[in-house]
Amino acid sequence: MYRSMMLINGERVEGASGRFEIIHNPANQEPVAEVAIGDVIDAVKALEAAQRAFPGWSSVSARKRCGLLHDAAEIVRERADHISKLLTMEMGKPIRDSRREVLSAADSLDYFAEEGLRNIGEWISAGDTRSIVVKQPVGVVSMITPWNYPVELLAWKAGPALAAGCTAVAKPSSLAPVAATEFVMAINDAGLPPGVLNIVHGSGDTVGAELVTNPVSRKISFTGETSTGRWIMEAAARHLKRVSLELGGHAPMIVFDDADIDAAAGACVRRAFGNMGQVCISVNRVYVDDAIAEDFAEKVIRRTLDLRIGDPLDPEVDLGPMVSERQRRKTREHIEDALRKGARILCGGREPEGFTRGYYFMPTVLTDVDHTMCIMREETFGPVAPIMRFSSEEEAVRLANDTEYGLAAYVYTNSLRRAVRTAERIEAGSVGVNIGSVIDLQAPFGGWKQSGIGRELSHRGLEEYLEIKHIRLGL
Ligand code: NDP
Repeated sequence: MYRSMMLINGERVEGASGRFEIIHNPANQEPVAEVAIGDVIDAVKALEAAQRAFPGWSSVSARKRCGLLHDAAEIVRERADHISKLLTMEMGKPIRDSRREVLSAADSLDYFAEEGLRNIGEWISAGDTRSIVVKQPVGVVSMITPWNYPVELLAWKAGPALAAGCTAVAKPSSLAPVAATEFVMAINDAGLPPGVLNIVHGSGDTVGAELVTNPVSRKISFTGETSTGRWIMEAAARHLKRVSLELGGHAPMIVFDDADIDAAAGACVRRAFGNMGQVCISVNRVYVDDAIAEDFAEKVIRRTLDLRIGDPLDPEVDLGPMVSERQRRKTREHIEDALRKGARILCGGREPEGFTRGYYFMPTVLTDVDHTMCIMREETFGPVAPIMRFSSEEEAVRLANDTEYGLAAYVYTNSLRRAVRTAERIEAGSVGVNIGSVIDLQAPFGGWKQSGIGRELSHRGLEEYLEIKHIRLGL
């Protein structure tokens, strides 16, 4: 069986306790890997290694650091098959999507290798003084990530942190630590000095909490649930640590009567059911103009029934299992709550036949939903598309904004005016207009309201790892 070790100070190690835990495949519950489990003492060792490595790494030229990141991206590409396979086996994502994730993580490293070269200061002349403004790395960073995109979300943190000159300790999710660890090993194999990038395994409330509260780390970059983010922000306040929080979402999709209905239905199916709906920017609520609601629902159902469910290692498969029984139960409970309050199932709503050993669930389309239902208010993180009708633009925008979250939103219309008007009124960090994806390396990504603080990607993602200093010269 595959053994996944931790990386502390450049060495592949097991934890001080010598404990290992088995990760099981959510598609068939077979063992995938045994994972070295760390404890608080390992987290402290990793933070201290990062602290020792910081003076050297932060003073290396940006060109050298960024060159190493480009090399790391190449190594990740060379190992993409290996890393993607482990990713699929530990969390159930179809192999095609895992491969896309790993390659996209390599692209992020390349992107930040270039962005890191643009960390350029300012020079201000004023009479007999001069002011220099420089941006310097914030220090040791704790990077804590979830299971749904364990490699890509770590790349969004490791890329800018290392390019900025920070050193780091990563803690992946206990549900899916293996591919993330392989990714860190690949970056390290590009020739990073020991201690620059470390990874420790272990539970959130021991290892994770240590990474948050230990004063050695100056910044926490976290992606995960809103409730965990809230706790992290409170704990970080004790040391006034910098925090970036990428939290939950509950994305609305508005489809106006003048939209390209086929395009909207296709995007709805891809965005609601991709990765089994376990995505922070999944479409969670669909609002459709009365005039086209039936036509739209029919097209969504037809496309949903075409999706191939199966073994996620099969390259033809569209949907694998959910990550855990807990996620599947939550999805079922949200559907049951909606049905009790008057919703109807148009398709799905149950486990598919013949998949007794994995956490499979059929992609589900609901109608007759309203905002009293959990499915319309809370993050389900499962493959459900609830469709609700509206009769005016005003009502659509009000419904879309009736949420505590504000990560992503989608609008389908062929009217430029309406597109701009609506996109500007929606309370979310990203709005896709006539497109079902809002991720672009060159553009900022992050949440409004309870969806987070700070931005990843783009030059703003790099700024999150830099402090500003003004040096004033008297002449
Ligand atoms: P969790 O918040 O449960 O866990 C995320 C990470 O935090 C894990 O590594 C976890 O460790 C760790 N953790 C848990 N408790 C603590 C703690 N007290 N201190 C420090 N670390 C802790 O989220 P999930 O893994 O369940 O991920 C799903 C969530 O992530 C969803 O809400 C989703 O919306 C959000 N997400 C947000 C994205 C965004 O960009 N906004 C992108 C993707 C997902 P352990 O696994 O050991 O518990």
